[in-house]
Amino acid sequence: MTRILLTGGSGFIAAHVLDTLLERGHSVVATVRSQEKGQRILDAHPTVGKERLDFVVVEDIAQPNAFEKAVISDPPFEAVIHTASPFHFRAVDAQNELLAPALNGTKGILHAIKKSAPSVKRVVVTSSLAAMFDVAKPGDYVYSEADWNPIKEDEVDKNPTFGYRGSKTFAEKAAWDFIEKEKPGFTLATCNPPLVLGPVINHLASLDSINTSNERIRDLITGKAKESCPRTGTSLWVDVRDVALAHVLAAEKPEAANKRFFLTAGNYSNTEIVGIISDQFPNLKDKLPSGEALVPGDVPPESRIGFDNSRSKEVLGLTYRPLRESVVDAVKSLQGLLRGD
Ligand code: NDP
Repeated sequence: MTRILLTGGSGFIAAHVLDTLLERGHSVVATVRSQEKGQRILDAHPTVGKERLDFVVVEDIAQPNAFEKAVISDPPFEAVIHTASPFHFRAVDAQNELLAPALNGTKGILHAIKKSAPSVKRVVVTSSLAAMFDVAKPGDYVYSEADWNPIKEDEVDKNPTFGYRGSKTFAEKAAWDFIEKEKPGFTLATCNPPLVLGPVINHLASLDSINTSNERIRDLITGKAKESCPRTGTSLWVDVRDVALAHVLAAEKPEAANKRFFLTAGNYSNTEIVGIISDQFPNLKDKLPSGEALVPGDVPPESRIGFDNSRSKEVLGLTYRPLRESVVDAVKSLQGLLRGD
């Protein structure tokens, strides 16, 4: 058993990381932004004792020294998984809303570990395809861990997408710079997923507060997208349970030290998602776009993105779930939320 600090415990991906950590016998302390959010995590795990699952409040990771107290624990932490970072495309002030929490949060937790948690030997940071993707590359370019988004600091205010991609790129770069310059007593691994889909198991006040990557599925099953299928955008995806397992394996396996992991199951399109929902949930058919309304969700074969996910398979031993399983389980989880399960 390893004692692990997990940041952003209330999030979509973190909820799965937390369950995977518990399933694999680890002891977890999750950071959350409020007492209430922490209590909800404990309530969702009624049979797990405090010695295996607890929380600590870190209100705002953008603040200096936000993690100063959170990294100290008895028994002490051996690993840290840092998922907390804002993920949305509605920022009007990218510097304050996205870059400050992403950058200060990443740099802050690494400094706090080095200063106050010498028992930590491994750190895993959730980065993103956003830190690898280059808008100037041709569609069939094959992405791998060797790629970096070349975005410049003065481009982050161009639009909210650039703001988010900049936040992930600069935060991940800062993490690797820290390792190089500070030479701490821990290793780093980053997980770089594209769009993450799958069952929502974190608490949501309502479907309005669903995480960004599952918005398209919510909009499809509620009829919001009936007149026009959402555009697919960058067409690589991965299931949240595979992403969660990758984070945990990256913390467990010595071979994962000081590596980036590009986590993707391959290409998808929103039109394919509509097809899966229509097949598996006939009662939702009248909510879904059809005919001409489906066209915006298409990704023509020539626009599918090249990818090399071999490192995640070889080093972590990861296998990837198919799109059908991910979409079906996502829809079931959202139907459960709509029913108030
Ligand atoms: P969520 O929005 O569900 O989770 C984000 C988490 O970060 C939440 O727990 C949130 O807390 C916390 N957070 C955000 N800003 C702050 C802040 N200023 N102070 C403290 N906590 C903060 O999104 P995901 O689970 O999807 O994202 C988790 C990570 O995965 C992020 O780093 C994201 O960039 C990355 N990622 C996600 C992808 C996806 O498709 N989902 C793809 C690639 C990377 P609260 O809920 O209380 O606001």
